[in-house]
Amino acid sequence: MRFALRAGLLGALTLTAMLAQAGGVKTDDESVYRPTGKGYGELDDSPGAFARWKAATKGSPTTNGINYHGGPVMLGTNKIYYIWYGNWTGNNAPAILTDFAQNIGGSPYFNINTAYYNGSNAHVSNSVLYGGYANDNYSQGTSLSDAQIQTVVANAITTGALPKDTNGVYFVLTSADVTASSGFCTQYCGWHTHGTIDGSDIKYSFVGNPDRCPSSCAAQTTSPNGNAGADGMASIIAHELEEAVTDPDLNAWYDRRGYENADKCAWTFGTESTASNGSKYNMTLGSRQYLIQRNWVNASGGYCDVKYP
Ligand SMILES: [Zn+2]
Repeated sequence: MRFALRAGLLGALTLTAMLAQAGGVKTDDESVYRPTGKGYGELDDSPGAFARWKAATKGSPTTNGINYHGGPVMLGTNKIYYIWYGNWTGNNAPAILTDFAQNIGGSPYFNINTAYYNGSNAHVSNSVLYGGYANDNYSQGTSLSDAQIQTVVANAITTGALPKDTNGVYFVLTSADVTASSGFCTQYCGWHTHGTIDGSDIKYSFVGNPDRCPSSCAAQTTSPNGNAGADGMASIIAHELEEAVTDPDLNAWYDRRGYENADKCAWTFGTESTASNGSKYNMTLGSRQYLIQRNWVNASGGYCDVKYP
């Protein structure tokens, strides 16, 4: 997720113009981009890239604005694990975001991901469970490199604080005094990737606390659950989760600019309602209201929405 896309929040740019600006990529040439998991594509300028792209997407429908590249998707019931990194004392983010993890599965919103499938036409399911949490008391300090974020995940698994689950997505959630040195608040608000941990391919994500940089990473300063950082994180967690299940190894579903499904709708919310405290929300999951960015529907030509069908 790249924060620059927040320009769209201001309504100054249409979605199309916003994406064109964010990508800065012509699509009428033979440029091919691959996803980074951080919300932007990376130019594949190696020889034969366009021919390989054509071969990899052969047979994949191109009419919905996103292509299948042959890699796995996450099938069956998937699990959300949280690693609360830093100091969360006195912050009710754990209550809000645990609720969120317990209610996103089965929702009309997460059902969008069921329009994504693998080479055997097996579709992502709308089954997501909350798997539990671990705490990490600054084991890697307050400025985390990408490698240290993987270490945080690996430590939670190898110490037994969390189970090793190849159907899991492990979210490293950092308190507002912690940053990620590859670009939290300046290049992205969160990202997802995968790595080999204890011999298994483990999917994980970094999501920072937008309280550190609300103008970059929070959609609003008064939020439905009265905690702008936590409400901002809910939207980012949703984004990274849906990208993880449809593109866990960065070789399944993305477009020619390297945009994964949620990237194509980042920081757009559709129809908004007003909560009792004056904040905006666009969905209710369980007993709470949230303002969650839309996701790309891989059907009917492709479009952003908060539900499918
Ligand atoms: Zn993304």
